[in-house]
Amino acid sequence: PAAESVLLDALPTGLFIGGGWVAAARGATFPVCDPATGLVLAEVADAGVSDALAALDAADAASAGWAGTSPRERSVMLRAVFELLHERADQVALLMTLEMGKPLAEARGEVGYGGEFLRWFSEEAVRISGRYGGNPEGTGRMVVSQRPVGPCYLITPWNFPLAMATRKIAPALAAGCTVVIKPADLTPLTTLFLAGLFEEAGLPPGVLNVITTRQAPAVSEALIADRRLRKVSFTGSTRVGKILMRQAADNVLRTSMELGGNAPFLVFEDADLPKAVEGALQAKFRNIGQACTAANRFIVHRSVADEFTARLAERVAGLRIGRGTDPEVEVGPLINDEAARKVDELVQDAVARGAQILTGGARAEGGGAFYLPTVLRGVPLDCAILSEEIFGPVVTVVEFDDEDAAVRLANDTEYGLVGYVFTESLARGTRMIDRLETGMMGLNVGVVSNAAAPFGGVKQSGIGREGGVEGIEEYLASKYTLIPG
Ligand code: ADP
Repeated sequence: PAAESVLLDALPTGLFIGGGWVAAARGATFPVCDPATGLVLAEVADAGVSDALAALDAADAASAGWAGTSPRERSVMLRAVFELLHERADQVALLMTLEMGKPLAEARGEVGYGGEFLRWFSEEAVRISGRYGGNPEGTGRMVVSQRPVGPCYLITPWNFPLAMATRKIAPALAAGCTVVIKPADLTPLTTLFLAGLFEEAGLPPGVLNVITTRQAPAVSEALIADRRLRKVSFTGSTRVGKILMRQAADNVLRTSMELGGNAPFLVFEDADLPKAVEGALQAKFRNIGQACTAANRFIVHRSVADEFTARLAERVAGLRIGRGTDPEVEVGPLINDEAARKVDELVQDAVARGAQILTGGARAEGGGAFYLPTVLRGVPLDCAILSEEIFGPVVTVVEFDDEDAAVRLANDTEYGLVGYVFTESLARGTRMIDRLETGMMGLNVGVVSNAAAPFGGVKQSGIGREGGVEGIEEYLASKYTLIPG
């Protein structure tokens, strides 16, 4: 508690605009709560449209200057923030656990993962390249260079408060773009802390601007309609992503969309079952199941379904739930009460249609937005729990008889973010790379995220990639020049 209040007392709570911390017009604020206790952690500024436009003014004013810095300068800046982040790792981790609920060990894991985007893109900043060549007619030379797209609007969700911010800010800044970022109103504190690190590292005013707001639709609409904005990058629900894409069309903005998922987790008859159980625990219970990459449907070969589900249910029943600040806790609360209610609705619907509860299946007793880690077996295919993102600690198992049926089930969704495949057959594993309609795949592993890899989906899971050598291209535009002769 002492560490918590020291941290919260020192936290900036204003809007970060043009290199300074300012209150929202008319002084509006909103509370940020701890999902484990419901208690208010801080009051932060509630930006309106005029504040958002002031942030864009700052990003626009800084744009030419930042685009004109050397790649090395931008690289050094990102690296400095990476170092600062690691110096403050304990504070950042605690802050994430407080505002979002994930267990401290996972929050520390996110500091590592989120920090890697700063390091990776500090390394990529100096590798922005182009090409040179003759045209087919032999009458001229073609020079292709890469230019920053310009001011960007970044919108992040609440489930990974640090990593979703660094995954967008780092490539944008590396490319030479300035940004306005809007964190989710449920978890704005980590982004404010991160902005403080950029300020401390000496980032020029206006390059990074942060607006916290409870008025996301109005603020986003105004920014996206502004001619000075050149790009919008969003991570969140498919529903909101579609709204933003429609708005972006009017201004012909570049867009990157990381949207929902409905990940299949395939366990074949030739899988190493202990490995599959470990993978399942990671793919499902990391972040309390609140990840777009979370395994949503366990598709298991009938011959191993008894053993796999029994082993998994035993492990799941032993998971310790509680406030994430307790080092023993493995499963924290869901983000809020509404989330817990929604998960329970999906579970009760599946049970009413015939699914069998092996463990869990209800909200936890006592306060807070806790849901019991749950395993459901024999889930009928028409249940909403198989087509919607569960975003909670619930395993659903369905069974199959052959590979074609498994693939059909896996691909029977409008989403296509990630799939997990457990098989000891190299040939089958390799085949599945082509057969699964997803942007990513884990072969005998339950977590795939890495700053050096292109993260993203196909179908309604989104457009564009974050991380890897692809991640910086989202913030660059090719410029071709013809030199005759
Ligand atoms: P989630 O289901 O993860 O909460 P949302 O898509 O609702 O996903 O939210 C993700 C982000 O999008 C948050 O920052 C939220 O404030 C923002 N957001 C929600 N609705 C809108 C909207 N209509 N326009 C712009 N941003 C929005």
